[in-house]
Amino acid sequence: MKKISLLMASLAILVASCCNNNTNNYPKNVIYLIGDGMGFGAVSSLLLSQDSTTVFEFAPVIGFNETCSAKNYVTDSPAGGTALATGTRTNNGYLGVDPNGEQLTSILKKAQALGKKSGIVVNTTLTEATPGAFYAGVKKRSESYRIAEQFCESGVDVAIGAGLSAFINRPDSVDMTEVLINKGYNVYLDWKSVLKTDSKKFVGILSMSDVHRRNSTSKTAGAADGAEVCLAAKLAAQSANDSDTTRFSEPTVYLQKATAKALEVLEHDSPDGFFLMIESAIIDGYGHNNDSEGMIIEMKEFDQTLKMLVKYVENNPNTLLVVTADHETGGTGVSYKHYENGEKVPVQLSFSTKGHTGTVVPIFAYGAGAQEFAGIMKNTDIPVKIEKLINRK
Ligand SMILES: [Zn+2]
Repeated sequence: MKKISLLMASLAILVASCCNNNTNNYPKNVIYLIGDGMGFGAVSSLLLSQDSTTVFEFAPVIGFNETCSAKNYVTDSPAGGTALATGTRTNNGYLGVDPNGEQLTSILKKAQALGKKSGIVVNTTLTEATPGAFYAGVKKRSESYRIAEQFCESGVDVAIGAGLSAFINRPDSVDMTEVLINKGYNVYLDWKSVLKTDSKKFVGILSMSDVHRRNSTSKTAGAADGAEVCLAAKLAAQSANDSDTTRFSEPTVYLQKATAKALEVLEHDSPDGFFLMIESAIIDGYGHNNDSEGMIIEMKEFDQTLKMLVKYVENNPNTLLVVTADHETGGTGVSYKHYENGEKVPVQLSFSTKGHTGTVVPIFAYGAGAQEFAGIMKNTDIPVKIEKLINRK
């Protein structure tokens, strides 16, 4: 108990010192952390099941984010990512383009134009919808080979994720890893190489078992009626096998460590700062699969990454950290459960759908400029606010 109190006290000092004094300042660096499918139910599961206080609870600024797409209360991930990346609502299924199919400019590209270094870290494929919205433009998310081409033109300084197939198993037979190498990138295909590199321009394209933990037993991948089962739901349903456990792999800390690695690259020689987008993609999958236990574990891992980033903001007060979701998944709530003999029992989540919902999602903001993210806003307001902040120095 004493240990927990001490931890809470140190967290309180950490957050009070890092986040309350400068939330009106202009940021040099921006970190945009997106929990795919992370609605209030997912966040509640973490808050109620942690014995210690989470860094969510110390967020100095909290807001609500309305996640609709152009013509639907309920967005899919391509349109949700596009809104968060570009400030424009588009049709479900469209990625990085407006409802007329015109290419949009993402906040990552705008940050690059201001001389900022840029990076992408995901625990899914680099060509999935949410990261893709920051550099690509297609009307069909399934065209991952085209998204891979656009990734090679993205100009990011560092990217770490999975999804080699879109880069090498292509209709045009081009090996896009060679294209990246010719553009001056080091390309790594295993986690160990990513961890030990001191390259200041690299792309890590890892296996799925490197970037996401597996269950002890396989579950059923879910989707809303008539919808295709998405990659996140498939990943959330997969069980571990022998080849996963014999590989050098530490997927439960992957997101946190990959983020730290990307920060090393972005901090180096960056007089104008940097823009880093991070996606925790599989919260969405547990929502689709209506998997209570899986979602709670995933949120605890998310919290570890967030804790590291809040610490980063403490040490680098010219940094803005914005945390939100592209949409809610699962219609997730906390179920009625009576405490036993006065003792808490594990949180159990209930779900009302295997698809996404249009319920608003939370925003948590820390550091320079965080104050802008207080209150209720549309998904499209978020990149617009970031843009305004980084245009002022
Ligand atoms: Zn989804």
